[in-house]
Amino acid sequence: MKKSFIRNTDKPVQKYRFIVQSLFSLLCIWIGVEFYLFVTYLESGEAAAFYNRPPGVEGFLPISALMSTVYFFQTGEIHQVHPAGFFILLAIIGVSLVFGKAFCSWLCPVGFLSELVGDFGERMWKKIFKKRVKLPKFLDYPLRSLKYILLLFFAYAIFSMSEIALYYFLSGPYNIMADVKMWYFFAGISKFALIVIAILFVLSILIRSFWCRFLCPYGALLGLIGFLSPAKIKRNPVSCIDCGLCTKACPSFIKVDKVLTVRSDECTSCMSCVDACPVADTLEVKNIFTKKKINKKLIVVGVVLIFIAITGFGILTGNWQNNVPKETYLELHKNLESIGHPTSTADIQELNKASEKEKSNEHKKIR
Ligand code: SF4
Ligand code: SF4
Repeated sequence: MKKSFIRNTDKPVQKYRFIVQSLFSLLCIWIGVEFYLFVTYLESGEAAAFYNRPPGVEGFLPISALMSTVYFFQTGEIHQVHPAGFFILLAIIGVSLVFGKAFCSWLCPVGFLSELVGDFGERMWKKIFKKRVKLPKFLDYPLRSLKYILLLFFAYAIFSMSEIALYYFLSGPYNIMADVKMWYFFAGISKFALIVIAILFVLSILIRSFWCRFLCPYGALLGLIGFLSPAKIKRNPVSCIDCGLCTKACPSFIKVDKVLTVRSDECTSCMSCVDACPVADTLEVKNIFTKKKINKKLIVVGVVLIFIAITGFGILTGNWQNNVPKETYLELHKNLESIGHPTSTADIQELNKASEKEKSNEHKKIR
């Protein structure tokens, strides 16, 4: 027998999400344009062409930001080569601690692009197969672990560095020019890299959010941090009519209609399931400690405000523009080709050895 129910009259928040995602992507495009002007200045070397480097570009250097964060916890100091990257990472972690992996579905431009491509693919599959296409579990689970393996690799590399080795790396020419190098990587993209990106693009049409679900180490980190968030999707089994609309709406393929509380590293707090639920007071975001309902609109405002508050704190405390003089940039730009990444274990050991040597010299001086 069909359950009678009171209709959910809450307004959906997906259009707000789309607006926030679009604005954030536009901001990233604007940062890209400014950075292009900065690189043009470096290439010309003429004072008349001077253009300030946009600090927001450091949001695209997550590994460097992670190193700065570890360095901050080791020393209590904010490293001044990419201070904006450090605050952007803190803001993203702050959003994840309060609202779960919300950065991925509300702010991340790659997540946004991935979603648009995924929507297109899904419409195509629905026309052909009359249903959504998902990888079978035996492939989905091992592939999902890839992003954690990548995260582990980066975490191991960073945590095996001593405090001084981290300092050397962060202050070194490679880290200073990492954004410029990244620019040239994309501006003069190689055939091989283009093929890899094209493959990822096609895979994202075939399998929704291929990059985010299987490969993004940033998403892996935020998924883990998101477990600590008190805001969780809760289903009321008494009023639930088992229509399954929440599960159908979930872009992360979470079986929302089969659980009481969504506790998944793949949940991006996108609110698609909550918006799709036709029954009043049945699928809600709740604070799992106070058991109180969190209004969906509060999530819209909260995600944006936390991000602005933390990055704004960086700006107001003078930790946004880096302390690298333009003369240094011009000098390093001339020798850009010869600046390489100290990637190998041997390089890291070298940095660690150098720092140990420095420490023992200082120790001798004190004695
Ligand atoms: S469970 Fe709900 S909030 Fe989480 S990803 Fe799925 S649709 Fe979005
Ligand atoms: S959308 Fe999900 S939670 Fe809402 S009534 Fe249907 S099955 Fe239950």
